[in-house]
Amino acid sequence: MRITIQHLTKIFPSRSKGGKAVHAVEDMSIEIPSGELVGLLGPSGCGKSTTLFMLSGLESPSSGKILFDDQDVTTLAAEKRGVGLVFQNYALYPHMTVEQNIRFPLDNMRIKKEEGNARALDAARLVQIEDLMARKPHELSGGQQQRVAIARALVKMPNVLLLDEPLSNLDARLRLQTREEIKRIQRTTGITTVFVTHDQEEAMSICDTMVVMKLGVVQQIGAPQAIYDDPNNLFVANFLGTPPINIFKGKFENGKVSVGGEVIAELPGYSSFDNCDVFVGIRPEGFVYRPDGAFTLHVDHIEVMGRDKSIVATHESSTKPTVRCIIDSDVVLPEDATELKFRIKPNKLFLFGAIGEDRIRYPLNVFEGKIEGGKVTVGGEAIAETELSDREVYVGISPEGFVCDENGALPLKVSRTETKGKNIFLRASHTSCKTASVRCVIGGDTALPEGASELRFNVKPHKIVLFDAETEERLK
Ligand code: ATP
Repeated sequence: MRITIQHLTKIFPSRSKGGKAVHAVEDMSIEIPSGELVGLLGPSGCGKSTTLFMLSGLESPSSGKILFDDQDVTTLAAEKRGVGLVFQNYALYPHMTVEQNIRFPLDNMRIKKEEGNARALDAARLVQIEDLMARKPHELSGGQQQRVAIARALVKMPNVLLLDEPLSNLDARLRLQTREEIKRIQRTTGITTVFVTHDQEEAMSICDTMVVMKLGVVQQIGAPQAIYDDPNNLFVANFLGTPPINIFKGKFENGKVSVGGEVIAELPGYSSFDNCDVFVGIRPEGFVYRPDGAFTLHVDHIEVMGRDKSIVATHESSTKPTVRCIIDSDVVLPEDATELKFRIKPNKLFLFGAIGEDRIRYPLNVFEGKIEGGKVTVGGEAIAETELSDREVYVGISPEGFVCDENGALPLKVSRTETKGKNIFLRASHTSCKTASVRCVIGGDTALPEGASELRFNVKPHKIVLFDAETEERLK
């Protein structure tokens, strides 16, 4: 069963007079292919459970649509959706045996006893608890109880399996074992499964696709490794990885990345228009010990962990109390060194704008423009509003700032389009553009009119940076 979520939004009204409504889920759109195991991941309160409850029918959306294959189920009653739901707290009936608990949904569906027994046994075998059928829940371990809950969800032969933090009540060892179990059961049954967790390691280890959420808003969707290797913003980079990514306050000037005055990386192709304060994210495995390296860390202590050494260090520009570097345990380090120097692996270093915290991936596109009567114009077309006074400006637009729209304000002549992963990369031109070509990165689901050489775009206001045309100083 394919699940399509279109512009799903849930707003809970304020409970107190004059209080604020809670935007639990905002404009969520995802397509989950049939048979996938998808993880909704994010910190407490980010809207994971609300999304799951809307999928199950227990909560109704404020707006947006949910489709199971081609059927619109947005307003369909929960019991008609063919959904199996498993909660964190198992919710088993204490007075019933395991068998009775598993069979319970079938009894409600008035399925004959013999067939019910056979299906309960099949479901119990799938989760490997067929020897425990006569026990009561209090005679089972937490992991076994959770398997009963999963068997009870599977016995209905659901089209979709929804799991809400199913491992939270288990101890560390059982969690590990049960998450492998869930993956095995999901693979065996091929049921499209949505799994809610706030544990990034759990999501990364079992999901085909992860949906990372923050404050009700989807931050990134993709395969776990792809998101780890290519995070969209500081939040996502910080949320994934053990030990977590190291974050430093730094500067990005004329294509050079510096932290604490040391130039630690160069990214050619950027101009002075791209200069800005940045957060520099470096994964722990991104440090390579080199006596002549450009990045100096003050060593606190070194831990040896199997095949790796973990260097626990400090740096005055780090936003966290300690910096963690993971290097091969064969690397010989000078004894009792209080300072070590490193080279940084380019694919383990990410830049994020200090304002907005979005990833800086590509150079800005810079256009000649004007501020006229509270509007930012390029080639005479108003593309954004501003409170700045009238003047000539350079308008910097990051490649992710364009939204294709037939009524959009900015026309671009497109010379090349290429689909890579979940994005479409466009190369285009505009008479007011100061750079050789305009580079745009737009969502892969954007329907581009075929063969059109000119496309129109709207520009996302938070992706625009303005510079005074005379001084080239950034305007804020
Ligand atoms: P957790 O991991 O803690 O379960 P979550 O990511 O599943 O968190 P939700 O339970 O979906 O988050 O809640 C999202 C937001 O909606 C939170 O701010 C929560 O307080 C709010 N919320 C959830 N249910 C209701 C409700 N019935 N009425 C009002 N606000 C609600």
